[in-house]
Amino acid sequence: MAEYDYDVIFIGAGPGGYVGAIRAAQLGLKTACVESRETLGGTCLNVGCIPSKALLHGSEKFAEAANGTLARYGVKLGKVELDLAALQADKADAVKGLTGGIEFLFKKNKVDWLKGHGTFKDAHTITVAGKDYTAKEVVIATGSSVTPLPGVEVDNDKGVIVDSTGALALSKVPDHLVVIGGGVIGLEMGSVWRRLGAKVTVVEFLDQLLPGMDGDIRKEAAKIFKKQGMDLKLGTKVTGASVKGKKATLTLEPAKGGAAETLEADCVLVAIGRRPNVAGLGLENIGLELNARGQIETGHDFRTKVDGVRAIGDVIPGPMLAHKAEDEGIAVAEYIATGTGIVNHDVIPGVVYTLPEFAGVGLTEEQAREKGEIKVGKFPMMANSRAKTNHEPDGFVKVIADAKTDKVLGVWAIATVAGTMIAEAALAMEFGATSEDIAYTCHAHPTHSEAVKEAAMAVTGKPIHI
Ligand code: FAD
Ligand code: NAD
Repeated sequence: MAEYDYDVIFIGAGPGGYVGAIRAAQLGLKTACVESRETLGGTCLNVGCIPSKALLHGSEKFAEAANGTLARYGVKLGKVELDLAALQADKADAVKGLTGGIEFLFKKNKVDWLKGHGTFKDAHTITVAGKDYTAKEVVIATGSSVTPLPGVEVDNDKGVIVDSTGALALSKVPDHLVVIGGGVIGLEMGSVWRRLGAKVTVVEFLDQLLPGMDGDIRKEAAKIFKKQGMDLKLGTKVTGASVKGKKATLTLEPAKGGAAETLEADCVLVAIGRRPNVAGLGLENIGLELNARGQIETGHDFRTKVDGVRAIGDVIPGPMLAHKAEDEGIAVAEYIATGTGIVNHDVIPGVVYTLPEFAGVGLTEEQAREKGEIKVGKFPMMANSRAKTNHEPDGFVKVIADAKTDKVLGVWAIATVAGTMIAEAALAMEFGATSEDIAYTCHAHPTHSEAVKEAAMAVTGKPIHI
């Protein structure tokens, strides 16, 4: 009889756990994945990346029809009305199709889904729904959930103060939506509901939106969202909230201290960050401690301090992104099966899927300057023929290179398709490209991506179209 039931058990079937489990099975390991949700795919497929992108896409279509954008192209419309139930049904369809797809892939690859909450009994034994399962290796991929804001209690069922899950499921467009937190979730969900007709106010503690992104991008983001009609209260904190019936009253204060003011809303979205899911995992049973931020620390091979236990995805340090979790899932499976795996944590792109999109990979200009001498090339989307033809003037591409070696250290972009454009920058950086390598790579015309080439040309002062 085998010593263990499985070679590896993943706890959590989000982009980290489900991708890791499939890769492990492909590599010939007997694999199981524990998941307590009714469907596979984790935060990303159920209440994150996918449903938010469905609503972003649908609300873009509605706004194009409703605000007259299409009229310029000779598309004549009568009265445009929103059928929110239909939009929500389209979102549910996308989620159902993709989560069902993971279940199919589990069956195809012979990954066992252990349904229920997983708890460590010891380092090699996981209890799920009252039954013990053993494995030579266990990978914690339990993800993250919303960070609560003291004094502002979320109740998604009531729909007045909600988190991102509640904001994805509203059955009525709020008159006034106040978003607490000008980060990725706040701006994506704020954009959805603004396009569908809500007045949107974003309250952000810091002086700029989108922490972690390049300084120029953050400044430009504030201008763009203001131009789109969002009310931004930067450098402001929310100190409390009260709910009466269907209305909330928030108390705000300048972040640096000062006179308080109140703000009324019929919906409040709390989006101040996410924290690792570790409650009920039984980490105390295996003696695994968390760092000061409540995360599980690992080495390059995702091993924790406890023998036989590894961790990946949102539960460990690094950006909380689905593609980072997926790449770690593949790498951890390869480490377990073969002894080697690769994730280049210096080259993980990040994208905000608003209109325009905000994207970046590598170092910000501020980080790069701290490390040494750099050269920076910038090219405005206004001078890009495709963006100009499409009436998409907002944004720019910025390439940051080492002053001596010309090696590309970071690329940042604001453009309607910046999320797609940033992939070539990530690939270039992965191969150690110089700005000259990008500048001398033929880019198809007319494409938004030509702006990446021109920004690279601008590093050495020779763009053509400005
Ligand atoms: P998760 O996806 O959180 O999955 C963990 C799973 O583990 C969950 O299903 C949970 O139920 C399960 N679980 C936890 N504990 C246990 C236990 N003890 N037993 C059994 N099961 C357990 N990222 C992007 O890259 N692009 C985007 O566009 C994007 N959009 C987002 C939009 C929103 C609204 C949100 C909230 C997040 C978004 N993210 C996006 C972030 C992305 O969803 C996460 O980074 C990603 O899901 C992390 O993957 P993970 O596998 O680490 O964890
Ligand atoms: P975030 O960290 O992106 O933004 C949170 C914002 O809230 C920050 O700007 C912070 O300064 C602000 N804040 C914190 N406390 C505050 C307070 N008391 N009052 C006012 N502002 C306050 O977090 P998020 O938007 O909640 O997103 C969580 C995670 O989900 C992110 O790490 C992100 O990577 C991931 N996510 C990614 C995508 C994407 O890739 N497109 C989309 C959604 C979510």
